[in-house]
Amino acid sequence: MPSTIPEILKIIPLGGLGEIGKNTMVISYGNDMILVDAGLAFPTDEMLGVDLVLPDISFLVENQSKLKGLAITHGHEDHIGGIPFILKEMSIPVIYGPALALGLLEGKLKEGGLEDRTSLRQVRPREKVKIGCFEVQFIRCTHSIADSFSLIIKTPVGTLIHTGDFKFDFTPVDGELFDIASLTAAADEGVLLLMSDSTNTEREGYTPSEKTVWNKLNEVFANAKQRIIVTTFASNVHRVRQVLQAALKYDRKVCILGRSMLNLAGIARELGYMTFPDGLLLPVDQIKKLPMEKVVILTTGSQGEPLSALTRIANDEHKQIKIVKGDTVIISATPIPGNERSVANTINALFTRGAEVIYGRDSGVHVSGHACREEQKLMINLCQPKFFMPIHGEYRMLVSHCELATQCGIPEENTFVLENGDVLEVTADSARKEGHVKAGLILVDSSRHWHINDAIVEDRRHLSEDGLVTVALTLDHERRVLAGPDVNLKGVILPRGIPAEEFVIKVQAVVKAIIDDRSVMDKMEDRELRTHLTAALGKYFDERMRANPLVQILLHNVSVDADKIGKFKRPPTTTSR
Ligand SMILES: [Zn+2]
Repeated sequence: MPSTIPEILKIIPLGGLGEIGKNTMVISYGNDMILVDAGLAFPTDEMLGVDLVLPDISFLVENQSKLKGLAITHGHEDHIGGIPFILKEMSIPVIYGPALALGLLEGKLKEGGLEDRTSLRQVRPREKVKIGCFEVQFIRCTHSIADSFSLIIKTPVGTLIHTGDFKFDFTPVDGELFDIASLTAAADEGVLLLMSDSTNTEREGYTPSEKTVWNKLNEVFANAKQRIIVTTFASNVHRVRQVLQAALKYDRKVCILGRSMLNLAGIARELGYMTFPDGLLLPVDQIKKLPMEKVVILTTGSQGEPLSALTRIANDEHKQIKIVKGDTVIISATPIPGNERSVANTINALFTRGAEVIYGRDSGVHVSGHACREEQKLMINLCQPKFFMPIHGEYRMLVSHCELATQCGIPEENTFVLENGDVLEVTADSARKEGHVKAGLILVDSSRHWHINDAIVEDRRHLSEDGLVTVALTLDHERRVLAGPDVNLKGVILPRGIPAEEFVIKVQAVVKAIIDDRSVMDKMEDRELRTHLTAALGKYFDERMRANPLVQILLHNVSVDADKIGKFKRPPTTTSR
C-alpha cells in the first residue's frame, strides 16, 4: 500500500507582517483554506498620490476554490478594509464576524454593489463555527473598537490562537471583559501555535485602561470656558462614547463633523454599542447658534489628513467652523507612524489661531488599544503555546516579540518571524518556515478607483526628488535627425554657477554624440535608442550632478527625406528650470 503523506497545516500571512496595517492571514490545510481578516493600510509619505495600500491577493485568486470562509476579528480598517477589493476579484462563501464589524462592512459592500459576492454571518462571544475542516471559536477580547474578538482555531493538527488586536483592559468602558477563561481552557487542552499582536512590543509595562481617559476628559470639560473640539479615530467607539458622556454631564450639545465619524456613530448607536438621547447631536448650522460654552465639536482629522474637518478648521479653510481664542482642542489619538509631521502641522496651526491644544502621549487624553510588553507576556503565559509567531508589526517588533516569548520559556527554535508571503508549515509536533507565495502591495488611487502601478509611484518619487529632463528628437525615414535635440528641464537643480542655457547645451552634446553616430542610428530601433539615450544621460547626471532626474526621450518619426526640407535649420530650444 502506498504510504499516505499527512497533510500539513500552512500559515501564510499576505499582509500585516513587517508592517503596521493590511492584516490578512491565510490558514490552509489540504483543500480547505480560511482567511483571518482582510485589511488595508495607509500610504507612507513616499507613496505620492496613493490613498490606500492593499495586499497582493493573486495567491487568493489562484486558490479561490479552496477558500471556505473569512473570520473577522474586529471592525478596524486594517482588518476589514481590504474585503471589498477582494470581492471585486472573487467571491468569499461566508464572512463571519462581530456585529459592529459586519455593520461597517455591510455599508461598504452596498456602496460597491458587492452584496451578492458573499454572505455575512454574525457571531456571538464563544460561538464556534465550522469553516471547512476548521472550527473557529470567537472569544471576546479588549481593544480600542467595541466588539473585538480573538480566535481559537481548531485544526486537524492542533489548536491555533490568533489574538487579533488586543490589550488587557480589566475595566473596559463597555463592561465586556477579556474572555481569559477561554484562553486558559484552550491552554489546558494544548495550544500548538500562538499568533499574537506585536504593535506595542517596544513599549514596556501595561497599556492603561480606556477608563483612565475619562478622568482627563472630565477635567478638561470641567475647566473649559468656551468651545471644546475633540478629534479621535472615528472607529474608536469607546472614546466617542466617553466624549458624548462628558458632553451630557456638562450640558453641552455635540456636532459631529466628518463622514466616517457620523457613519460610525450611527451604526454603533443602531447596534446598541452607544446610547445617547435624541437631541444631544445637532447639525452644524444649529450648533453655531448656541453659546460657545454649550458646544462640543467631535471631528475626524486626528492624523492630520489633509481633507479632514479638523485640518481644514486648523488651516481656517472650513466654511462653518472657525477657531477663536479660548477654544480647547483635544487630540485624543497619537499619530500612526508616518503621520507625525501632518499632525504636528495641525497642532501648530491650531495654536497659531489661539486655541489651547491638549495632545501627546502623556496628556492623558489618549491610551493605546494594543498590549504593551507585560500584557504580551501575559498572553504567552495564558496560552502556553508550543510554537509562537508574532503578527501585526514591523520586522523589528516581530523580532522583539519573539525575544519576549523566549523569555517566557518558549524555546527560541520554536519562535518564527515571518514576512508577508512566507509559509509556516505546521504539523502536530513540528513547525518550519518553508517556501513563499506571491505577496506584495497594490496601491490604490481611491478618487479614481484605480490601482497604481509601483513604477508610477517610483516615477513620482523620482520627479519629486530630482526633477524631469525631456529630450525631443524628430527623425526621418532613414533615421536622420530632422529636428532637435530639444532639451527641457523641469525641477532639475543645476550644478552651482552653471546657467540653464549652458547646461542644456552640455546635455545636447551628450545626445548628439550618440545620434550623430550613423552606426548607432542604423542599428537601433526606437525603443532601443530611447533606452540607450536614457542610460547615457543617467550616467552623465550621476557623474556630473550626483542626481538622478527622470529622463524622458520623445522620438518623432516623419516619413520625409531630410535633404528635401533642408538641414537642421531650427536652432535647439533651451528652456529654463
Ligand atoms: Zn484594531
